[in-house]
Amino acid sequence: MGNPKAFLTIDRKEAGYRPKEERIRDYGEVEQTLAIEDRMQQASRCMDCGVPFCHWACPLGNRMPEYQDLVYKGKWKEAYQVLNQTHPFPEFTGRICPALCEKSCVQALEHQAVTIRENECATAERAYNEGFVLPRIPAFRNGRKVAIVGGGPAGLAAADRLNQMGYTVTVFEKNEAIGGLLRFGIPDFKLNKHVIDRRLEILEAEGITFKTGVKVAEDGDMTPKQLDKEFDAIVLTMGAETPRDLKVENRDVKGVYFALQLLQQQNRVNAGVEFEKADRITAKGKNVLIIGGGDTGSDCVGTSNRQGAKSVTQIEVMPKPFEDEDPVNPWPAYPRLLLKTTSSHKEGCTREWSLNTLRFVLDDNGNLCGAEVEKVDWVTPADGGRPNMVPTGEKKIIPCELALLAMGFTQPNAQFVDAFKLEKDQRGNIATSALGQTSNPKIFAAGDCRTGASLVVRAIASGRCAAQGVEEYFSTLKK
Ligand SMILES: Cc1cc2nc3c(=O)[nH]c(=O)nc-3n(C[C@H](O)[C@H](O)[C@H](O)COP(=O)(O)OP(=O)(O)OC[C@H]3O[C@@H](n4cnc5c(N)ncnc54)[C@H](O)[C@@H]3O)c2cc1C
Ligand code: SF4
Repeated sequence: MGNPKAFLTIDRKEAGYRPKEERIRDYGEVEQTLAIEDRMQQASRCMDCGVPFCHWACPLGNRMPEYQDLVYKGKWKEAYQVLNQTHPFPEFTGRICPALCEKSCVQALEHQAVTIRENECATAERAYNEGFVLPRIPAFRNGRKVAIVGGGPAGLAAADRLNQMGYTVTVFEKNEAIGGLLRFGIPDFKLNKHVIDRRLEILEAEGITFKTGVKVAEDGDMTPKQLDKEFDAIVLTMGAETPRDLKVENRDVKGVYFALQLLQQQNRVNAGVEFEKADRITAKGKNVLIIGGGDTGSDCVGTSNRQGAKSVTQIEVMPKPFEDEDPVNPWPAYPRLLLKTTSSHKEGCTREWSLNTLRFVLDDNGNLCGAEVEKVDWVTPADGGRPNMVPTGEKKIIPCELALLAMGFTQPNAQFVDAFKLEKDQRGNIATSALGQTSNPKIFAAGDCRTGASLVVRAIASGRCAAQGVEEYFSTLKK
């Protein structure tokens, strides 16, 4: 703790976003960067608490006080080394993590948390720019082969750790490029894809083999049986890509899509892929209705505005979250029920809560022209159980020519569960031990496919955990 008074004398300063009028015209990252002196000052605000709740809150257990101090002192190489001990890809979360750590920072009690996420990003960027991020070629190979199914953050984290331990790792990815939702889901204005490519170059140089365009499935390019025969262990990291549907009248009309259909296509267009006009999903000149009030919905807001939407409305069936403090999850827990207003929301949209969608409405030509919604109340039963949704009869039609369903995801694991005879837990997820081992001892699971849709930082932590599980599995076999 280089400057013990900084937290008293220096206020939290965020880098902020590019001006709204400028940023909605492109897909460049919206977040700006602070001048280096400001960044070092921000890092000096860390109080090096005796009990650092930030360690506890970050699923990776990052050691914030240690590297904040190094950043403050301008020791960027050492700062990156400390960060990299617990975190293989700080440049991803430095951009898109909801910063669970900051919510538990002691200074968050005064709404003055240390800018940990931004400092993380700055440390990683400085490390790349100064040439500190170099391939670390493992000194030996242990002769064991591990297959990773899915090239998202969980798969990459597992691959990285296993490779460093000396395993020979192959990542199988069904898409044309590696990255999972980082590449085909999260918009470029939150995470520029060169950030993924830059890391992949390092991972490849370190010896990981990436096989893209390979779907592992009974009817895919490689069957689970083939994988089982060729590899000593398998880590399943297929994510949770199956979107939750809304089974209401006229759901199948043209103009109603899953959020990811829009987001993935826009990511591909930004990467230079061309689509037939008839296949292109676009908000241009349309009233857009986004059903689902979460992060995926927010990404649809930002994308719709960039595509030139006439109006954007985001609705949510649950009640409006708390605006200031979350009494249900007080500090230092993550405020799950706090209203989140993203850079995309600030670019322009109407937000409404407690609205249930009853049906999609068609005009005389059979085209989508609106959605009928009903106001609902959420009533907690006398026994204090989960609140029940109660219709109020108050209905209205929200005009829209494009509707996007952003209502969460389920796991598409059935084929793997059957093929490898895996047990499921009570929630229907693949049952695993703490280190990701399934009921089939050579098969491990990590990331969203293990836990359900979650966060990048949790997927990375889960992938590293499964890698540790693989190592322990083989060390037990040796005995
Ligand atoms: C629109 C959107 C925005 C988000 N924004 C954020 C955010 O800002 N911050 C945040 O922390 N989290 C965010 N998330 C959540 C985050 O992206 C996920 O929690 C995280 O990517 C999960 O990582 P994963 O590796 O488990 O799965 P994924 O990222 O889904 O990767 C799984 C990979 O497996 C591949 N795959 C699937 N089946 C097969 C198969 N049979 N054979 C071969 N390959 C297969 C898929 O193609 C995919 O590439 C967002 C999610 C969405 C949908
Ligand atoms: S990964 Fe997320 S929770 Fe962990 S230190 Fe970085 S910003 Fe905080």
